[in-house]
Amino acid sequence: PQIKPQPVIRQLDDAAINRIAAGEVLERPASAVKELVENAIDAGSNRIEVVIADGGKTLIRVTDDGCGIAPADLPLALSRHATSKIDGSDLLNINSFGFRGEALPSLGAVGRLTITSRVDGTEAAAISVAGGQATNPRPAALSTGTVVELRDMFYATPARLKFLRTDRAEGQAISDVVKRLAMAEPFVSFVLRDASGGDNRTTFRADAETGDLFDALHGRLRTVLGKDFAENALSIDARRDGFHLTGYAALPTYSRGAAVAQFLFVNGRPVRDKMLLGALRAAYMDVLSRDRHPVAALFVDCDPTLVDVNVHPAKSEVRFREPATVRGLIISGLRHALAEAGHRAATTVAN
Ligand code: ADP
Ligand code: MG
Repeated sequence: PQIKPQPVIRQLDDAAINRIAAGEVLERPASAVKELVENAIDAGSNRIEVVIADGGKTLIRVTDDGCGIAPADLPLALSRHATSKIDGSDLLNINSFGFRGEALPSLGAVGRLTITSRVDGTEAAAISVAGGQATNPRPAALSTGTVVELRDMFYATPARLKFLRTDRAEGQAISDVVKRLAMAEPFVSFVLRDASGGDNRTTFRADAETGDLFDALHGRLRTVLGKDFAENALSIDARRDGFHLTGYAALPTYSRGAAVAQFLFVNGRPVRDKMLLGALRAAYMDVLSRDRHPVAALFVDCDPTLVDVNVHPAKSEVRFREPATVRGLIISGLRHALAEAGHRAATTVAN
């Protein structure tokens, strides 16, 4: 019999490792926008602007007024597993969006990346990467915060590029990402501008007047989801065993033909978690036909040790220590609100 020659084991170089990681984190332009806006939020920004062109395929630029990156730290920000957000000792207590230190090196592996940044009271600097090769930091001009510009995403991987959808569809996915993050962060102003689409602009302005988180969240949901949603939504507030469920769920009459308007947040992080989506669907089972989908924006809050957010590279799935409790809370919380609304409607008719 033929004997397979003994293969040689070798260590991959950084460029190859970054390309492999990029494949997990960066599926499409919207994933790049997600990572960059999350970084801007983590930096304590008050205002975040996202500019895209051609559905993000040729240009994504995120500008923030956050804490900035010191010139000497720019090369570090671009290396893998380098993060300022955790020290690695406590993966169960994560309060920032980022912690894996994967996004910037991955972006540098799939496009032409330039980061310009300024820490208050110091000089601004810029660094660029293309094809995994970084320049040295150089002096730059910037008043405050950070600008990250990604041009020609996936230019070096034509196979990936071919899988992308139309500019319109990719632009829509980017808008969806910005909306979800805007709903989670009512104290931050967001601007999304499409430089190729006749200078299309969406703005979610933070209300400087409201210091109250609940009022701010309510106001932001109204602007993002629209007046119709606000007028058809029931306010939710329920607790069970350390879990707190808040937000809004629309009346069954305000449903959709597809599951496109279901916004779920766990400890302030937008997620697309199968268990949570399933619980939402189950809550409406008796009041919606199979081809209709509920509209809701729900926030589950709990002690960070009750949920693991480090399950998925894009962190869009989470794992609860007690999933049955959370599922039960969502189903009973929503059913209770729906039943009350039905009861109220019935009394109104009776009167
Ligand atoms: P992570 O967010 O998981 O830490 P990233 O690769 O996204 O990893 O970012 C690496 C580091 O670069 C961050 O930990 C942070 O220190 C710094 N950084 C990235 N973006 C910004 C920004 N917009 N403002 C300030 N610092 C930033
Ligand atoms: Mg990050």
